[in-house]
Amino acid sequence: MIRKTIAVILLLTLSSAVLTGCANNTDASGVCFAMDTVMSFTIYGKNRDAALAACQAEVYRLDALFSATDPRSDISRINAGAGEFVEVSDETAELIERSLSLSKTTDGAFDITVYALVECWGFISGDYRVPAADEITQLLGNTGSGTVEVQGGCVRIAGGQKIGFGAIAKGYLTDRIWSILESYEVSRAVISLGGNVLVLGDKPDKTAWRVGIEDPFTADGYFGVLSAADMAVVTSGGYQRYFEDDGKRYHHIFDPSNGYPSDSDLVSVTIAAKDGTLADALSTAFFVMGSTQAKRYYDNSDGFEMILVTKSKEVIISAGLRDVFTLPPQNGFTLTVTG
Ligand code: ADP
Ligand code: MG
Repeated sequence: MIRKTIAVILLLTLSSAVLTGCANNTDASGVCFAMDTVMSFTIYGKNRDAALAACQAEVYRLDALFSATDPRSDISRINAGAGEFVEVSDETAELIERSLSLSKTTDGAFDITVYALVECWGFISGDYRVPAADEITQLLGNTGSGTVEVQGGCVRIAGGQKIGFGAIAKGYLTDRIWSILESYEVSRAVISLGGNVLVLGDKPDKTAWRVGIEDPFTADGYFGVLSAADMAVVTSGGYQRYFEDDGKRYHHIFDPSNGYPSDSDLVSVTIAAKDGTLADALSTAFFVMGSTQAKRYYDNSDGFEMILVTKSKEVIISAGLRDVFTLPPQNGFTLTVTG
């Protein structure tokens, strides 16, 4: 059984200050564990210590609000009260509304009501199992965001439904962290929440942060590098959290249309955007949708760029990344630009 999180790798060459923590005493670094993820922070500037403490407090605040396993959280209370309106914080209600709208624009590929399926397959408890076909059919009957209602600060899901923010919470947390950093006048920072990275400003040596995109075939090292500033960079894939049964691999991102781990032509999706919530949701949705639909979505909207990796090692980048993404000529990857 493997429980790991995708790491968007901050290249080790980027800054000795990041590696060593407090070289020159210019940064404040910290690590914490929440949302099933090791989170690391490197923050520069005169308010770095206070900013770091505020960011870490925000991690635990949102973890407590959104956790689907803590019975006191908003999400658990909604699930326990399925069929009834449950009063929640404005933030929870707003993130549910955002999730419903993302379900619509992704034709249901992103769907917070997939949680009951995720649970049934054992991804919450760690007791992994392949459910019987009729179990999946029954849960599928309760999957779909059309029955989720938000009225003011109250939320109602249908009886038998369960929701989870697994594919969007870290993105929202990224946005909250960015706004906290701004309030502390921090303009240079690197925050890594597993597969969600936030890079602000440039490196202390004034060159751009270099974000390594993990190789989905080896789950070790990176296949390409993105130079980025003031950007959330989020990767989703099926290669880190999965179990094997009877020689077959089952990963943790589900296709809400059939109740099984998704099986598109993609092995990983990276989204770069100013909006971390959007980046998190779209990386999951595109992984489910596959490259053709992802390209179509890209052509019809803005506010993000993408790196898609197909099963056949084709790396498809959106036009906006042409000058900032590098693919070293190795390991058989080919590069295509779309849009
Ligand atoms: P990670 O959490 O590993 O960074 P994602 O952001 O892609 O990866 O989120 C995957 C998690 O979201 C799963 O563990 C599950 O809880 C939930 N999930 C799985 N499939 C979907 C889906 N189609 N839509 C929304 N949430 C999903
Ligand atoms: Mg996601």
